[in-house]
Amino acid sequence: MEIKLARTAGFCMGVRRAVDIVLEIAQHETSRRIYTYGPLIHNPQTIELLKNRGVNPIENIEEIQDRENAILIIRAHGIAPAERKKIKESGVKIIDATCPKVGYVQAIIKKHAALDYTVVIVGDKEHPEVDGLLGYAGGRGITLATLDDVDKLPSFDKVCVVAQTTQDSDNYSKIVKKIKNIYPHSIIFNTICSSTEQRQAEVIAMAGEMDAMFIVGGKNSANTRRLADLAQKQQTPSFHIETPTEMENINFGPYNRIGVSAGASTPNWIIDRVMDKIMEGQSRKLKKIGKLLNLWISTIKTDVYSALGAGCLCLACMLLQGIPVKLSFIAITSFFVYAMHVLNRLISRKPAGLIGSFREETYQRHGKLYCFTALASILVALVLAFNNAVLPFIFLFVISLAGILYNMRILPKKWHFRSLKDLPGSKNIFMSIAWGIVTAILPALNKNYSFHAGLIVAFGFTFGIVFIRSAMSDILEIQSDKLIGQETIPVFFGKTRTLTVLKIISLILLALLLFSYPAGWTSSLSYFLLVCILYIWICFQFCDRKLGLSGAVKEGLLETSYIMAGFCVLLWRVF
Ligand code: SF4
Repeated sequence: MEIKLARTAGFCMGVRRAVDIVLEIAQHETSRRIYTYGPLIHNPQTIELLKNRGVNPIENIEEIQDRENAILIIRAHGIAPAERKKIKESGVKIIDATCPKVGYVQAIIKKHAALDYTVVIVGDKEHPEVDGLLGYAGGRGITLATLDDVDKLPSFDKVCVVAQTTQDSDNYSKIVKKIKNIYPHSIIFNTICSSTEQRQAEVIAMAGEMDAMFIVGGKNSANTRRLADLAQKQQTPSFHIETPTEMENINFGPYNRIGVSAGASTPNWIIDRVMDKIMEGQSRKLKKIGKLLNLWISTIKTDVYSALGAGCLCLACMLLQGIPVKLSFIAITSFFVYAMHVLNRLISRKPAGLIGSFREETYQRHGKLYCFTALASILVALVLAFNNAVLPFIFLFVISLAGILYNMRILPKKWHFRSLKDLPGSKNIFMSIAWGIVTAILPALNKNYSFHAGLIVAFGFTFGIVFIRSAMSDILEIQSDKLIGQETIPVFFGKTRTLTVLKIISLILLALLLFSYPAGWTSSLSYFLLVCILYIWICFQFCDRKLGLSGAVKEGLLETSYIMAGFCVLLWRVF
């Protein structure tokens, strides 16, 4: 079984830039209404999310009523100069998100049209990019799409040929060759965007190797359709799908090696969910290993894996501090973590069907069951804590309440931050503190434990591991979080800076664990827990989506950093 994700799948530079520009404006603009001139990208799911953020596509400037208080964003395809002039004169503020590569083609056309060249644009006549390019030719432009169209060209003195940036390179080469034969003095520019060329080349190569190809992206996206055509042309069974729901009836039986690519306007979260579906389909074919894999993924999807990991961390923290192991505290931690994860997910669910993690589907389907098990879990945790002593119960009660309040809107509407969750990065910090309390402090309170440096080390260890893991998950979801306006740490600081901070935290943890035993603060388990840090460094690689792992697998691998703590305890006991 092999599932391969194309390195080039997903947003290209121009689309990412345009989306970032729009989201930046949506985030800070409070007084003016925001519009895009046509759908920002050819992906209906993203357009719906943008509408939720107050960004609406229009087809005509007349659709804007209050022009003084409007911002109009020109999408990556660009527009014709005459249209731009018309918008400017209407009084609407323009923000230009035209892709620089499209801008380059516009400049070529403008320059050659001014030098009396006839500009031949090879592209789809109906495509907005071509429409914009034609505008730069100032009446000296001709569009054509096929080899046959070349025969219909009139005779010219001076010809300049350019391509729509997302043209099929093979088709363009053939057309160019024919034009050169007829007009030997024509000037040819290869304006097909390198991102498009690489994407197409990768699809052709993959289709040759794989048993089936899945091309993910809007049915209205020309570049995605072109990828699907290319895959089809290689005689490889190919599926052009817009959302994972279209995969329900696909029989994965005959396909052992599956390749996945996506158009330039396909967001990561849709690609990830397609990868999840393929993974599900493929693992059904692997008998025993497949069952184990499915079981593992089910525990990840249902948050049971996180809860088990929390139990492992609690065990490690007790042994690190030299506290006798009490199973009830491991159970309290697991039940608490499960309940908080589920309740918070239920309260702050992302708009279903459009976006969301691989968990969204199960949460949607079994919402009531999740709610019941979460409430039962928190109740069991509280009873167990009370059974141990009053102080752990009070602590647990307070953090449980804080956990539920975290998502609730407690401040008035006029405030930008209405709930704790609106504070950038608060999720990671609060979650890490809560985990630190249940894994390290609660078991210590049980023994009327006086303050000891080991407590700080244990708390710091859990805090660090949980913080790194949750921030790495946020890095993987940076694109969808930006779209729904969730200000996570990577959204706020950027991926690179976040990764640097996480690496620094991991180094601090490393130093803490190295010195805590010789300093007499903790047991020698601290040395064994270094394996967790090593594992985290490996995990930093998972932040690269192009590894081609499904969303659930990536999340599971990150959460294994908790399970690793249990593994370290095992090693410590053995050695
Ligand atoms: S495909 Fe290329 S030219 Fe088109 S928007 Fe993306 S980066 Fe720009």
